[in-house]
Amino acid sequence: MNYAKHEHHDFAGASAQALTDPPLQAALARLTDILMAGNRRSYAALADSSALRDHAKRIKEHALAHLDRYLEELEQTVTKRGGKVHWAATAEDARQIVVNIARQAGCKKAVKSKSMTSEEIHLNPALEKAGVEVTETDFGEFIIQIAGERPSHLVAPAVHHTRESIARVMSHHLQESLPDDARSLAMTGRRVLREKFYQADLGITGANFVVAQTGTIVLVTNEGNGRLTTTCPRVHVAIAGIEKVIPRFSDLPVFLKLLARGATGQTLSVYTTIITGARQPGEMDGPEEFHLVLLDNGRSKILGSPFRESLQCIRCGACLNACPVYRRIGGHAYGGVYSGPIGSILTPLYDSVSLNPDLPHASSLCGACQAACPVKINIPHMLIGLRQMQHRYKPARLEDLAYAAWKEVLRRPWLYRLSLRFAKVFLRLFAQDGWLRRLPGPGSGWTQVRDFPAPAKRTFRDRWKELNS
Ligand code: SF4
Repeated sequence: MNYAKHEHHDFAGASAQALTDPPLQAALARLTDILMAGNRRSYAALADSSALRDHAKRIKEHALAHLDRYLEELEQTVTKRGGKVHWAATAEDARQIVVNIARQAGCKKAVKSKSMTSEEIHLNPALEKAGVEVTETDFGEFIIQIAGERPSHLVAPAVHHTRESIARVMSHHLQESLPDDARSLAMTGRRVLREKFYQADLGITGANFVVAQTGTIVLVTNEGNGRLTTTCPRVHVAIAGIEKVIPRFSDLPVFLKLLARGATGQTLSVYTTIITGARQPGEMDGPEEFHLVLLDNGRSKILGSPFRESLQCIRCGACLNACPVYRRIGGHAYGGVYSGPIGSILTPLYDSVSLNPDLPHASSLCGACQAACPVKINIPHMLIGLRQMQHRYKPARLEDLAYAAWKEVLRRPWLYRLSLRFAKVFLRLFAQDGWLRRLPGPGSGWTQVRDFPAPAKRTFRDRWKELNS
């Protein structure tokens, strides 16, 4: 794992800013409530959603345990259908591979369907530097592209925007005055993007799943842009993390049932695009060239680490909607491409633990993420693992000392009683109208953002004694 990259991320500062942004707070509450309600309703509507989720988890576990074999099989099946597989060890390798494909095929205009993996490797700037114009075609991604922002949610990248802000951003970009009415904005987006599809010679997608048995990539969208991206341009490049491979075609329905339910509460997403290779002789449409870029970028190291379970993630976003932290601060506060509970694991692992020291702590460990996750990933357990790892690299001496002292106190009832009496007298010095509003030293962190009730005049022990006397 990498311990030195990019810049130190100020999670606390970014969170504080998000908390004082009323439009963001309103947008987050609205969307996460809708998606979360859909998630619960759709799990409840399945005959035995828990068994199906266990089944999906077993498939993922099996695929990861035999990843070498399935990746080799995948390369053979893709090649047999006229496609080309490229292996990218790092983000830089992946960028270079896609730029080279564009150069060799003489591509100048690219359309992209939503892909977190391409965000992870920061593909767009590399292509633009190489003279290729890139247009995001998922409507949410298009908005954040023209706004110059990063996605703030795995499946709803522009969740931080309101109708009014979208109208502002699009009006500015298109140099025309657009009303802040959802239908007009959507129709304008459609008009602009249709033109881009007709002009594009390169289509770039991610892949929700990659089937080793058949060499098939599967794209799940609600807008149909994935279908146009893979059909109109003459060259198609799909970029997928190596963990996206599933063994058999018959495994696919298990994940399709769960992905849409976990993400939005839909029974099935509106479009499921299943592509096996480039256009075959006699076929009406499809690209002349098909390339599959398989990205490692730290994944094989994670495979052999205690964080292997994070590779089971199907990027549905359910853990974000369920998380009380994400629901208040949104995705940008996390600093990386991936946000929310799973982002608090993936960003430190893919990027750097030392530069993202707050992310493993950005959780109350309430377990809502695991309860919502279609593959029941034990996110709290891995967050604790990351905290342990941080502790190994940078021991917190004061904290260790405090816990060692606390342990000694707990072992001696007389000392515990004495400490409580002392704490009561001490804390009451700062009490006002029954509340502690300002504590000194390390306690000030707590009272900066919330009040704390002052200790009661009589302790529980005293009252208990009285009641039983
Ligand atoms: S960890 Fe689970 S809930 Fe979160 S995005 Fe991944 S699959 Fe979805």
